[in-house]
Amino acid sequence: FKIYGAPILSAQKRVVGAALTIRDITNIRRLEQMRTEFVANVSHELRTPLTSIRGFVETLLEGALEDPEVSRRFLGIINKEAQRLQQLIEDLLALSRLENQPQRVRPGRAKLIPTLEGVLATVNPLAREKGVNLEVEIPEGLPSLAIGENYLSQVLLNLIDNGIKYTPAGGRVTVRAGLENDGIQVEVEDTGIGIPAESLPRVFERFYRVDKARSREMGGTGLGLAIVKHIVEAHGGNVGVTSQPGQGSRFFFTLPVVTEGKVQAESPIPEK
Ligand code: ADP
Repeated sequence: FKIYGAPILSAQKRVVGAALTIRDITNIRRLEQMRTEFVANVSHELRTPLTSIRGFVETLLEGALEDPEVSRRFLGIINKEAQRLQQLIEDLLALSRLENQPQRVRPGRAKLIPTLEGVLATVNPLAREKGVNLEVEIPEGLPSLAIGENYLSQVLLNLIDNGIKYTPAGGRVTVRAGLENDGIQVEVEDTGIGIPAESLPRVFERFYRVDKARSREMGGTGLGLAIVKHIVEAHGGNVGVTSQPGQGSRFFFTLPVVTEGKVQAESPIPEK
C-alpha cells in the first residue's frame, strides 16, 4: 500500500484534521516485478549461448584451429548456439508483437487439416529421426477456425514439436480434434516423459521449464507454450494441459469456428 497524507486547514489556517489516501499498489508492484524478472530472464537466456560461442571461438583462435576434427566439432557447437540465439530472438519478437497489439489480431479463417499437413511436413523428419510415431485422428468436414493460418500453424508446430522433443524413441504423438460447444477442440497427446503435477500450472509461463538442462539440450527457448497461450487467447480460445509423469502429456486448445454469413475480412476490426 502507498499512503499519502495532507493536513486539513481551517479558514484561519489552523490544522483541524488530516486527509489520508490509501492506494493499493499491489498490482503495480506485481507488474514491475514481472517486468524486472522478464528482463533478467531474457538477459540470462541471451548470455548463455553467447558465452559458449565466445569460449569456443577463443579456444579455436588459441590453436585448436590447427586440428581439423576439433575445429569441425567446435564450429558445429557454435552453429547450434547461434541458431538458439536466433530462435530466442524470433520467439521474443513474436511474443512482444502479440502482447503489444492484441486488438490488432485479425479474425482470419483457417482449415485445420490442410494447415496441419503443412506442419507435419516440417516435423516429420524430426519425428522419424527420433523414432517417434506421429498419428492424426481428425474427422473430415470440420468447419473453419476463426484464426489466421500462420497463427494456427505456429500453435500446432509448437505443441507437436514439444510432443516429439519430450517423448523417447518408440513413443507416439497423436493429434485429435472435434467439435466442442461453439468451437473446435484440438489436442496433442504424447506418450512421453510427462510433467509433474506441481509444474502443470506453470508450463505456459514465459521461460518456465521443468528441466532447464533438458530443454536447452533440445534447443528449447522456454517460450513456445507462452506463445501458444497468447495466440489462442488473442483469438478468443483457451489452452490447457493434463499429464501423468512417466506416461505422457495431453495439451489441448479450443478456438471459435467461423460462423457462415459473418464477414471474416482480413482487415483490422473496425473501431466502434
Ligand atoms: P521449451 O522451449 O523449453 O520446450 P516450452 O514453453 O515449449 O519451452 O515448454 C515449457 C516447458 O514445459 C518445457 O521446458 C518442458 O519442461 C515442459 N513441456 C512442454 N511440453 C511438454 C511435453 N509434451 N511433455 C513434457 N514436458 C513438456
